Amino acid sequence: MAAILMDGKSLSSKIRESVKIRAAELKEKGIVPCLAVVLAGEDPASLSYVKSKEKALTQAGMDSRDIRLPENTREEELLSIIAELNSDRKVHGILVQSPLPAQIDEEKVFSAVAPEKDVDCFHPVSVGSMVLQKPGFLPCTPHGVIALLREYNIQINGAHVVIAGRSNIVGKPLANLLIRKEFNATVTICHTGTKDLNFHTLQADILIAAAGKPEFIKPDMIKKGAVVIDVGINRVKDAQEKKGYRVCGDADPLVAQKASFYTPVPGGVGPMTIAMLMQNVVESAQRSKP
Ligand code: NAD
Repeated sequence: MAAILMDGKSLSSKIRESVKIRAAELKEKGIVPCLAVVLAGEDPASLSYVKSKEKALTQAGMDSRDIRLPENTREEELLSIIAELNSDRKVHGILVQSPLPAQIDEEKVFSAVAPEKDVDCFHPVSVGSMVLQKPGFLPCTPHGVIALLREYNIQINGAHVVIAGRSNIVGKPLANLLIRKEFNATVTICHTGTKDLNFHTLQADILIAAAGKPEFIKPDMIKKGAVVIDVGINRVKDAQEKKGYRVCGDADPLVAQKASFYTPVPGGVGPMTIAMLMQNVVESAQRSKP
């Protein structure tokens, strides 16, 4: 039997609707939730992410402050823009789109964002707060994955979750969230140093593919009935497509023939990231004083 597809598009619409209501309530109190989106350079994938974030904000009645900077922007210039946004009371969240041009130290920039406006949860203080379960924002993609698991009543408590990928934005924070007592999963993280990836993936009750490798999780790498969450968003060349490429995940869609639940790409985890980001912005606006 084929897997149940986990519809991130529909769950994200529900979340965005509730964000819209919260934003309207705040507007009545004179607060318009606002996210500043900083993009340096011309990376086409980044540009398309940023555009879809801005569109989603507008649709929810929120403001977006678009800051577009040229590829040759100096680090000091960007840091001074961040400093201005930090002290601007009308801005409730700051998002710096990664990757930044090579001459800019990304870590330095992420660390310059005020933690109370760090809706992406990239600042070391935000990451520390997340690990220690102190107040702060939850990272958007990992939070979106958990929201999807909950929506489909997937048993997380006691489950063995195997994550392929240890990045700071997906693998590490997701593992940290899932081992919280409220979720109670047992987590294995695999990475480029893992000797026998298949051995681990075959143990997974829930397998999370976040390695940035197009369709590399194959059906023979999963246990029958496993839940497969595909975080990957990859562009692969495809002459049949008008754009010359197609978007695919890190798992081969054929895993759906063996899995119990599966997130399609597109339409699975991707839309959840934006919804959770919007939730963080409205949350930040709610915490602010007009
Ligand atoms: P990354 O490139 O920063 O990290 C990839 C990780 O995978 C690394 O830690 C590496 O050790 C590990 N890895 C690489 N090859 C591996 C292998 N063969 N076996 C096991 N581990 C391996 O990637 P990222 O930023 O975490 O993104 C991962 C994927 O998720 C990408 O496709 C990215 O586009 C996508 N992504 C999607 C969203 C979303 O909103 N859905 C958000 C962020 C990232």
